[in-house]
Amino acid sequence: MSNWNLHPSTRSVNSKNPIKEAIADVPLPENFHLPTYSLALGDPTAFPEFSVHPLVIKLVEENLLSGSGNGYTHALGPKEAREALAAKYSYENIQLTWEDVFLDVGGCGAIHTAMSVFLNPGDNILIPAPGFPLYMTVAWNLNAEARCYRLKPDQGWEVDFESLERIVDERTKLLVIVNPSNPCGSVWTREHLLEILEWCRAHKVCVLADEVYHGMTYGKPHYPMGSLTDEVPVITIGALSKIFLVPGWRCGWIIVYDKYKKCTDIKEGIFKIKNLLLHGVPFIANAIPRLFAEMPENYMSELMQKVKDRAEFVYEKVQEIPGLAMQMPEGSLYCMISIETEKFEDIRNSVDFTEKLAREQGILVLPAEALMSEKSFRIVLCSQLSILEDAMGRIKEFVSFHLKSN
Ligand SMILES: *Cc1c(COP(=O)(O)O)cnc(C)c1O
Repeated sequence: MSNWNLHPSTRSVNSKNPIKEAIADVPLPENFHLPTYSLALGDPTAFPEFSVHPLVIKLVEENLLSGSGNGYTHALGPKEAREALAAKYSYENIQLTWEDVFLDVGGCGAIHTAMSVFLNPGDNILIPAPGFPLYMTVAWNLNAEARCYRLKPDQGWEVDFESLERIVDERTKLLVIVNPSNPCGSVWTREHLLEILEWCRAHKVCVLADEVYHGMTYGKPHYPMGSLTDEVPVITIGALSKIFLVPGWRCGWIIVYDKYKKCTDIKEGIFKIKNLLLHGVPFIANAIPRLFAEMPENYMSELMQKVKDRAEFVYEKVQEIPGLAMQMPEGSLYCMISIETEKFEDIRNSVDFTEKLAREQGILVLPAEALMSEKSFRIVLCSQLSILEDAMGRIKEFVSFHLKSN
């Protein structure tokens, strides 16, 4: 060989991230005459009122200091942590054992593992739009296909079954649902989840239930998919990241709900893939049993009350802004705001909206194009209320400058 061969692999070249592509070119202006804010960033640790509960830190600190979490652990995570998760996420219809739980490197690691086990090149996975873009990236990485089905913005962001019917075929391996939803902030009813399960049963497609926001609601209860079916295998994704506001800790898991033992080979596949890369950090995983046992009862309701206050504020503001619309969100940490582009003089799409808003008002939002959708944007409901007030005022002014005059 006369030359170095330094071409990256096809797999790495294909691993694109739609968020980075849609907003890579949208900077907040420097030296702006007003403070600039990002309402786009999905990391709660950036917001002072969403700091980590001290008990969470203390439990992990104790594990670190005890010296028990410095070595390698089992590839699927420490047994005690798996047992605690099995107990926590068992439901009336199904009793889990520790062997149904697989720890992984964050929720994202768990998604990557689950998709790697299910998908051969050419297979496909059905994902919601708007939705979480990692599913696209992982599908591309595996030389598989992520096909988007539509959620209905004016009907609680529920599944548009017609769009689902158009994209399913014999190579469909998984239907992804994200509930409570990032980015929509919606929480589906039990009836809607049962409709989805009926669809899966009819098509013999497993559900990948992304429940990283498990229990994070303020409008109505969250029904975990695994609690609602015996017949349809449910692969649930969970993580400490959002529940305990520690996304940097990289601790997530897969739970396989499989009452009739249809997934024995799938579980074996998870074991094999996990042996490529061990699970995350043991002194964090070792804290799981006490984290779930000892957090104050009102921890989650207090956290979600803060999100609710912000959601209500934004919702009321948006009602005053012609050209924008939204549904009252009910869970997770976000909401989507629709842009009625036909009412605007010079806004073509949500990337255009985002770029002009950043330039003219110093406010950054996440355009729906980054979330496989259009004509809307996501904001994070974690900023201080005073910041949201300032930001929503500026969004209102921005819209009034760009609406058609009649
Ligand atoms: C944040 C998030 C994840 C996973 O997050 P990790 O930081 O990897 O634990 C998965 N799915 C959705 C919908 C998310 O918002």
